[in-house]
Amino acid sequence: MKINWYPDEIKTSLLDVDLDQLKKEEIKAIICDVDNTLCTHDALVISDEKKAWIRKAQDLGLKVILISNNHGGRIQKIADDLGCQAYGFSLKPLPHTYMKILKKNHLKREQVICIGDQLFTDIWGAKGMKLRNIYVRPISEADIFYTRLSRKIENRILKERL
Ligand SMILES: [Mg+2]
Repeated sequence: MKINWYPDEIKTSLLDVDLDQLKKEEIKAIICDVDNTLCTHDALVISDEKKAWIRKAQDLGLKVILISNNHGGRIQKIADDLGCQAYGFSLKPLPHTYMKILKKNHLKREQVICIGDQLFTDIWGAKGMKLRNIYVRPISEADIFYTRLSRKIENRILKERL
């Protein structure tokens, strides 16, 4: 059997994700990447538009859960400001953290959507767990060295779809 490793959906930005539609589809939680999805790499500041997007999700009753491979302290600080749960050092695309999130929040797979800007971590992590996923274009082109390398390969894979 051939595995489809492409994202389920591709959007330009997190802000293009239609929260009312997710609510209609009975999604209960959004597992959201931080770096280059919510803010630029290593930043602590979230734009007002993205804050408003998160607030709207929460008002609709959708949990926003931040997940990052970056160090936990910073992710926790961002999450505290936004009233979200945080999972740093998540080792995406490994399933461990996703499983922890589902269990802790009593979520079924079909109630969750994952959003992120990297194919090899965010999307493949979600796919490995059979979770719905949306790939968003990175906020900034300024990535750390490792990400720059993987980004080149990802862009080649995604080329036909973007
Ligand atoms: Mg990212």
